[in-house]
Amino acid sequence: MWILIFVKYVVELVCKIMKGGETMAYIITSGCIECGKCEKECPKDAIYQTCGQYAIVPRRCIECGKCAKVCPVGAPKKKEKR
Ligand code: SF4
Ligand code: SF4
Repeated sequence: MWILIFVKYVVELVCKIMKGGETMAYIITSGCIECGKCEKECPKDAIYQTCGQYAIVPRRCIECGKCAKVCPVGAPKKKEKR
């Protein structure tokens, strides 16, 4: 049993190291008024619109914060990646 726990710990540690430790990404929260400014500003094309709602692809986000700076209502916020 203890060997399984150890293996799980090692796998999680390796995954964390490969991702560069604890990482964050921006998300677009419910205050968004769908103006589209952030989509034009994102250098990684991480922001897209679907069914009228704007969203961010976490693995593309480099946390530059440009979306948050241009947003008139402060809708993009940092959130921990899964
Ligand atoms: S933080 Fe930067 S990379 Fe991430 S979604 Fe916003 S503009 Fe794009
Ligand atoms: S800039 Fe702000 S309000 Fe405009 S689409 Fe992006 S998150 Fe929504």
